[in-house]
Amino acid sequence: MFKVLVIAESSGDRLNVSTLEVCRAASELSAHLGGHWGMLVDQRAADSAGGLAPEVSVYDLQGVAYAGPEMLSDIAAQVARAVDMVIMPATSTGKDVMGRLAQKLDAPLAQDCTGFEVMAGSPVFKRALYGGKVIAHVKLSGELSLVSFRPRSYEPILQSDEVVKARPCELLLPELKAAVTLRSKASSQRPEVTEASFVVSGGRGLQGPENWHVLEDLLDALGPDAALGCSRPVSDENWRPHSEHVGQTGRAVAPDLYIAVGISGATQHVAGIARSKCILAINKDPAAPIFKVADYGIVGDLFEVVPSLAAAIRSGP
Ligand SMILES: Cc1cc2nc3c(=O)[nH]c(=O)nc-3n(C[C@H](O)[C@H](O)[C@H](O)COP(=O)(O)OP(=O)(O)OC[C@H]3O[C@@H](n4cnc5c(N)ncnc54)[C@H](O)[C@@H]3O)c2cc1C
Repeated sequence: MFKVLVIAESSGDRLNVSTLEVCRAASELSAHLGGHWGMLVDQRAADSAGGLAPEVSVYDLQGVAYAGPEMLSDIAAQVARAVDMVIMPATSTGKDVMGRLAQKLDAPLAQDCTGFEVMAGSPVFKRALYGGKVIAHVKLSGELSLVSFRPRSYEPILQSDEVVKARPCELLLPELKAAVTLRSKASSQRPEVTEASFVVSGGRGLQGPENWHVLEDLLDALGPDAALGCSRPVSDENWRPHSEHVGQTGRAVAPDLYIAVGISGATQHVAGIARSKCILAINKDPAAPIFKVADYGIVGDLFEVVPSLAAAIRSGP
C-alpha cells in the first residue's frame, strides 16, 4: 500500500500552519493513490499531531532546542526508506531538509510544488517556473520520492475528534557540528509573510524605514492575520529584515489580499506575488507596471491613501 510521510515543522508544542497544509496534500495523495499517510514530529508537538494524522511517529531531541536542517534530514533519513513518498512544506527549512535528504538517499526530489494530479496511476507534480508563467509537470521515478509543497497551496487540514496515539521512534540523533540551544520569537506577533491571509508590502516609495508606521497602522486595521512584506531594495537597504523580502529572490506569497504600496512592480517582485488571490496596488505613478498585474489600483500619494484606507477599514462597511 502506498505510504506518504509528512515531516512536520513545529514551534514548541505547535505545528506550523504550512505543515497543516502539507497534511492536506498528504491526505489527498494517499486518497488518490489508495494508500495511507503519517507524520513524523518532534515529541513536543506530538499532542497537536494526535487528531490530525492517522499515524504519528515522534522523535525526542533530548534537550536540543530545535532540529535544524542538518539534524532533521538525518532523522528523516532513518525512517524515509519505509515509505514511498516523503513530503514537507517548501519553507526555507523544508527545502533545505529535502535537498539534504535527496542527497543522503539518492532519491528524486520535486521542490516548491503547488499541486499534483494523478495520471495513469502515478502522481504528477506541478511546479511554477519563470515567475508562474510556465507550469512544469514533474513525474518522479524510483522507489522513494521527495516532494516539497509551496506554503498556501493547500488549505490547512482540520483537527478531527479521533485521537491517535503517537508512536515513539528509536532514532539515533546525529552528532552535530553546531546545535541550536535556544530559539526565541522575534518581538512581532504577526504571522509569517508566507502564511498570512493579508500581506501589506512596502517599496522604495516609502522613502525610509521611519515611515513604516503608515503600513503598520494599515496592518493593525486588517487584524491579526496580516503580515508585512517589502521589495528587495528595501531589505537590501536594511529598512526592513530580509525575512520580509518578497519576490523571485525572496519569499513567494499567496495571500487572499496583497497590498503593494509604493512598489513599481518589477518582474522579479511580481514573480513572488502571482499566486495572490487579489492584488491592490497603491502608487502615485499611473504608468507603474504594478497596475498591469493588480486587480484593483489606487493612483495617489501613499501617505494620504494608506491612512484613509486604514480608517475606512476600521469604520467598517
Ligand atoms: C536578479 C534580480 C533579482 C531580483 N529579485 C527581486 C525580488 O525578489 N524582489 C523585489 O522586490 N525585487 C527584486 N529585484 C529588484 C527589482 O528589479 C526592482 O529593482 C525592485 O523590485 C524595485 O523595488 P521598488 O518597487 O520598491 O522600487 P522602485 O522601482 O524604485 O519603485 C518605487 C515606486 O514607488 C512609487 N512611489 C514613490 N513615492 C510614492 C508615493 N509618495 N506614493 C505612492 N507611490 C510612490 C513610484 O512611483 C515607484 O513606482 C531583483 C533584481 C534582480 C536584478
